[in-house]
Amino acid sequence: MPISGKKYHRRSLGENHDMRPETLMMGYGYDPSLSEGSLKPPVFLTSTFVFDNAQHGKEFFELAYGKREPNAGEESGLIYSRINNPDLEVLEDRLALWESADKALSFSSGMAAIATTLLAHLRPGDVIVHSAPIYGGTEYLIRNILPAYGISSVEFESGIEHYTLEPALNEAQGKGKVGMIYVETPANPTNGLVDLQECARLADALAAKQGHRPLIVVDNTFLGPVWQQALAHGADISIYSLTKYVGGHSDLIAGSAMGRAEVMAPIAGFRTILGTMCSAHTCWLLMRSLETLKIRMERSAENAKVIAEFLQQHPKVAKVHYLGFLPKGSDAEAIFKRQSTSAGSTFAFDVVGGEKEAFALLDNLQLIKLAVSLGGTESLMEHPYSMTHSDVPDDVKNRLGMGESMVRISVGIEHVEDLIADLSHALDCM
Ligand SMILES: *Cc1c(COP(=O)(O)O)cnc(C)c1O
Repeated sequence: MPISGKKYHRRSLGENHDMRPETLMMGYGYDPSLSEGSLKPPVFLTSTFVFDNAQHGKEFFELAYGKREPNAGEESGLIYSRINNPDLEVLEDRLALWESADKALSFSSGMAAIATTLLAHLRPGDVIVHSAPIYGGTEYLIRNILPAYGISSVEFESGIEHYTLEPALNEAQGKGKVGMIYVETPANPTNGLVDLQECARLADALAAKQGHRPLIVVDNTFLGPVWQQALAHGADISIYSLTKYVGGHSDLIAGSAMGRAEVMAPIAGFRTILGTMCSAHTCWLLMRSLETLKIRMERSAENAKVIAEFLQQHPKVAKVHYLGFLPKGSDAEAIFKRQSTSAGSTFAFDVVGGEKEAFALLDNLQLIKLAVSLGGTESLMEHPYSMTHSDVPDDVKNRLGMGESMVRISVGIEHVEDLIADLSHALDCM
């Protein structure tokens, strides 16, 4: 059954040369001959798809609702854009390449990806064990929404020196069946890390005890997919806010989740019913973004390194929480080197002083914009204590090391000397 605009899946050149994801982003999963020769995939702005005949319609629905197994080589045809759409399919095939996932799904936001994944895999009585700090929206979902559905939680701190996963798992077992270990590594804005191999080892041990292996779900937004592939290090599901680095231009909201076919199937089913899929137009924008993902992430990481070094020697900066500065020989450094190939380009630093000094710095920037979010081509700065992490109780913020003197920067792809000149001037104004 030809799916319009799809079906071109060459991943290797000759016998033993597999192409890299950055090469495949320009055409993988799309056959121009199915779309009037159009070099780039059109935006399929349609709610519904016309069946060739009634028998096809019947067969498509049988597959879409899992009423029978597909015959060899049979793929479900297109029915309705809440269920599927060519732009979603091509985008998802390309996203999956970055982590060698069987299947990627795209969503209307990072939070839609997270919520759909959690609802698809957790049941009343389950306990979710999660790292802290985590993204505010995820924290709200786990703390304020899921308990009404009988799903409770236990948190553990990600860390630079050590972290507390094992005691948290023990506590969780007293509350019910541990359904999921949910991790953000590195954490925002502290850069606390979690050892994913350790998560996998503890999940295996728990499987023997409770007869169910908790899924390991990693929010890989900060370093993925270029600098960290969560699936390769033991995660079952890798989640992204595509709004950040993958979208990369601060002009869209989207998310994704990827993993093995059997863990993605229930999520796909929930997405169809909840209607949390990505729109065709946003998928098209994301395909355009994916073509430059690697060079954008490389350039911003290069800039970030120069900026982190500049800040570290500045007399008005007390501490730079940059992954490239982890103590030599520490456990954190070992975890970082095993799991990631770059320190990325979003990090926090503490100014000398408190809120007054941090605000003076932010208010005197001329090039760098004062805004939340991250991962775009332009550099952004914000004050986690009063902005992105405003909702976190003050004692928790202080315990986790995100005080009023902390500011966060997402470094973009501008000329690095322009960024340094802006920071230098604003620091002088403090
Ligand atoms: C932004 C973000 C999210 C939420 O993504 P949206 O696209 O805004 O819904 C989740 N996790 C992390 C780490 C984020 O930075």
